[in-house]
Amino acid sequence: MRIRVSGTHFPLETLGPGRRLGIWLQGCPLACHGCMSRHTWEREGGESMSVEALLELWRTALADRADGLTVSGGEPLAQPEALSELLRGAARLRAAQTHPGASGDGHPADLLVYTGYEQSELNAARQAALAHADAVVTGRFRIAEPTGLVWRGSANQRLTPRTGLGRARYTPHLDREAQGPALQVVMEALPVSGGRAGPPAVRLLGVPRRGELSYSERWLRERGIRLREPSWRP
Ligand code: SF4
Repeated sequence: MRIRVSGTHFPLETLGPGRRLGIWLQGCPLACHGCMSRHTWEREGGESMSVEALLELWRTALADRADGLTVSGGEPLAQPEALSELLRGAARLRAAQTHPGASGDGHPADLLVYTGYEQSELNAARQAALAHADAVVTGRFRIAEPTGLVWRGSANQRLTPRTGLGRARYTPHLDREAQGPALQVVMEALPVSGGRAGPPAVRLLGVPRRGELSYSERWLRERGIRLREPSWRP
């Protein structure tokens, strides 16, 4: 099965506990005001990949003692069948995990999904797509409702464990305030046609606290890096 992907990264350290594989799916119909990831909105943007290719990344991450998989976007539930297949495959590979995660908390790797849909909007098809998720973060991003809660972008967003592993791993974090950097800065060369590397892309991974995007932009500028098309500007 094919799936449209905006990007992947390992190790991701700002969206869930420990060192994780991050997969950002492409396409979001929700258009939250203040979204930092407008480049993920277009349904036909990003790159078409096979679910199997993503699972190969997950297999490699598990061998490298990943603590979990975070699927975000974009809106993962805009591709429900592909998301379902991805999570089912990730759970199957996780069951065969031979290394404990790097965080040393004794838990196997967990599967976390971010969706902009509210809990009340998770109809049967969306619930089915999330069947193998250990925890979900639900709710639109609302720029007028900032929060200090870890891994959430606005105060209305809910972190909900869905399995025994999810409860064991996420319950200690439900009311925890974020500490340390909320954003991870990654530099990547963008591929261009002809196979040559393009100009570097700066990716800010995580959920920024209020003012943190402007701060990051300033911090990069002071180091000679000027952002040409920040993904949070219309
Ligand atoms: S914040 Fe998330 S749900 Fe809202 S528009 Fe951006 S990608 Fe979509």
